[in-house]
Amino acid sequence: MRTVRKGFAGTLAINDNTGLIISRPDLQAGLSPVIEAGTAPVAYLNEYLAAFDVSCAFCAKHTPHKHGYTVKMEDGRIALCGDICASRFFGSDRALALSHDLGKRMQQASLRQAMAQAKARAPSVLRSLPKTLLDFEEAALEAVCRVGRETSHLSLRHQPIPGIDALKFASVMAPRRLAKAKGALEKLQKLNLDGDDAVLGTVLADFGVLETQLEIGLRFISHAATLFTRENFSRVNEFCRYQQGTVDRFSMVVGFEGEHCLHQFPRDGRQPIHVHLGKLPSIPSFEQIRLALRGVDEQSSNG
Ligand SMILES: [Zn+2]
Repeated sequence: MRTVRKGFAGTLAINDNTGLIISRPDLQAGLSPVIEAGTAPVAYLNEYLAAFDVSCAFCAKHTPHKHGYTVKMEDGRIALCGDICASRFFGSDRALALSHDLGKRMQQASLRQAMAQAKARAPSVLRSLPKTLLDFEEAALEAVCRVGRETSHLSLRHQPIPGIDALKFASVMAPRRLAKAKGALEKLQKLNLDGDDAVLGTVLADFGVLETQLEIGLRFISHAATLFTRENFSRVNEFCRYQQGTVDRFSMVVGFEGEHCLHQFPRDGRQPIHVHLGKLPSIPSFEQIRLALRGVDEQSSNG
């Protein structure tokens, strides 16, 4: 489908339901074939890109042309005006202002289209972010932060331990990215598309960073889930023990049902600290979520 005019959120397609860019200006009802000089234009109703010539209602020769505007006059009549004739007949300042005003309406329409699409996609992305996943993200951040705090001045994060990269994603300030993304999607679901443009703009801006947020969030929990094994933590522990009592020690305990729990043994002999991680959740692939965000449904991507 041909698209023209880059808008704020994307582009409008010709003959979409906004009616702001059309290919058959001749099909509009009530067109005046001739507009005499002296009547002022009040607005451009749409821009047209016709496949065949239409005639201009304004100039003496009614020059045939393919590109122009449907103009509304102050007396209520509507007529077609060629792109080039517009500046000549309305004056370049007036023509520019009218075109600018139409451009603004196109931007608003394309913003609303983008929001409607994003809103329609939100539920399938939300289905990929169940509570178990978000709970795991929260607990995993805490667990990894505890290890990170103890070892940030050491080289643990460079040790060849599977999933140790999780340490690079978690700091005290690390946001719960999946939870934030879920919040943004829920906000989007409740969004009133007929509302204020400024509000739509902010929500769309949030939507723009969602993909990155989800990607980083999923990468973190994947690393964390890989790291959280008894074997890996015995290597973490070995590393910590080697630091001659300057750091706490850790172990990962896995229950019969697969519940994971991080134990932290403070070096000063205080009570051990436990971080309950629950069972490791099944983690959706980022690719699956990316397709849902971009509106490619699973069936069409599989088949
Ligand atoms: Zn003309």
